[in-house]
Amino acid sequence: MTDTDNCQKATALLPLAGGNKPQPITTLRDWLDHLAARDRLAVMKPGIALKHELAAIAKRLDGEKATVFPHPGGHEMPVISGLVSDRQWIAEAMGVESSEVLARFQDAASNPMPWKEVTAAPVQEVVQRDVDLGKQLPLPTHNEYDSGPYITAGLCISRNPVTGVQNVSLHRLQLSGPNRLGALLLPRHTYTFYDMAERSGQPLDVAIVIGVDPLTLLSSQAIAPIDFDELTIAGALHGKPLPVVKCVTSELRVPADAEIVVEGRVLPKVREEEGPFGEFPQYYGERARRHVIEVTALTYRKDALFHTVNGGGLEHLLLGGIPREATLLAHLRRSFPNVRDVHLARGGVCRYHLYVQIAKRQEGEAKNIMMGAFAGHYDVKHVIVVDEDVDIHNPAEVEWAVATRFQADRDLLVVPESQGSKLDPSTRNGVGAKMGMDATKPLDAEEMKFKRIRVPGEEDVDLAKVAGAVPPASWRKALD
Ligand code: MN
Repeated sequence: MTDTDNCQKATALLPLAGGNKPQPITTLRDWLDHLAARDRLAVMKPGIALKHELAAIAKRLDGEKATVFPHPGGHEMPVISGLVSDRQWIAEAMGVESSEVLARFQDAASNPMPWKEVTAAPVQEVVQRDVDLGKQLPLPTHNEYDSGPYITAGLCISRNPVTGVQNVSLHRLQLSGPNRLGALLLPRHTYTFYDMAERSGQPLDVAIVIGVDPLTLLSSQAIAPIDFDELTIAGALHGKPLPVVKCVTSELRVPADAEIVVEGRVLPKVREEEGPFGEFPQYYGERARRHVIEVTALTYRKDALFHTVNGGGLEHLLLGGIPREATLLAHLRRSFPNVRDVHLARGGVCRYHLYVQIAKRQEGEAKNIMMGAFAGHYDVKHVIVVDEDVDIHNPAEVEWAVATRFQADRDLLVVPESQGSKLDPSTRNGVGAKMGMDATKPLDAEEMKFKRIRVPGEEDVDLAKVAGAVPPASWRKALD
């Protein structure tokens, strides 16, 4: 591709003049073009090693650039990583402002769009029933003590054995053999379906979908009720039904435009060693006997791209964080309409620390809001409630509110021995304490007591207009 081509591409992708709203991104390849046109896609030299080297490079560029690795470890199939490692990027994929991301996601979750089935799909251009995953896919090993190569960006699609409604979730998948994957299933929907199948001695069919557009990836992380197909959120975000195709070895329907699908089934009454694996809390998930997927087929595009998510990287954190924020905001607003915004802070691994901004109207309300937040998701561990004048996307602002508006004997709520995250190493297998901090001003405070200092006119200063003509080295002369 020449420079001229790049320029034309960049122009074509910018929002059109005349007030036309930017459109959501609906395919992975459009998204890669979008990133490339904004100098956010780094293409590495061929032959980067799959063990650690690839993840090391992707991690160095985490949050700055997505990465493309041609011929990784001599493998024919390229690897891509870091596709959604910035909040603003997610806003662009949705075609909205950064401040509208949660509202847009929640609107899509409330107005899902059913998928449409197609019979011919790019993801089935190549069908392999003789499977050797370690040879056919470029599987990276990420963190130092990971037990080996993992699939980390595979959307796991399964269906309720009774109702037939599909579910989408994301699980770490260890390469355990040529056609065998070890899986960590946490106690949510896929686990429930598996449990139903296992009780009747049956395997649970699953399809692992690798390489989808950013909005489908985001949809997979929605905190939706059971029997709510997360793929219908992807359709709503795209503004058109998601095309799906039937798997070659099961009844499952998978995104037709995906890059790769690993078809298989979770075996009943079988557990094998899985882990350790570097997880989002920045620690290793321990080795234990876990669920096993037997692979039945592999389908992919002729020129497929393999997407990998660095365990514990920004992409991993944000993918889980943003759908949770949207869900928690909607959940809290049902009982507390004066909740303005929520944020799962990065220091709390986008799961454990929730900042809540409210328009306070009642003393004591912050504590009710904390209890509502703890009930919203078991991962929420510490909640800090602040007033409207505190920017919850800036951790220093939240800390300032705690420093100047919070008193531990009056504003602290502790709930001992409750359900938390099993991946938080300070819990006893997921049992731990919740803590809430009310860092809001008292409603009856004298006006000047909590008046935030401000210099009049600061925000209106035009630095170009007030700069002097004397170079900085001659500052003494400027004063003559
Ligand atoms: Mn679900």
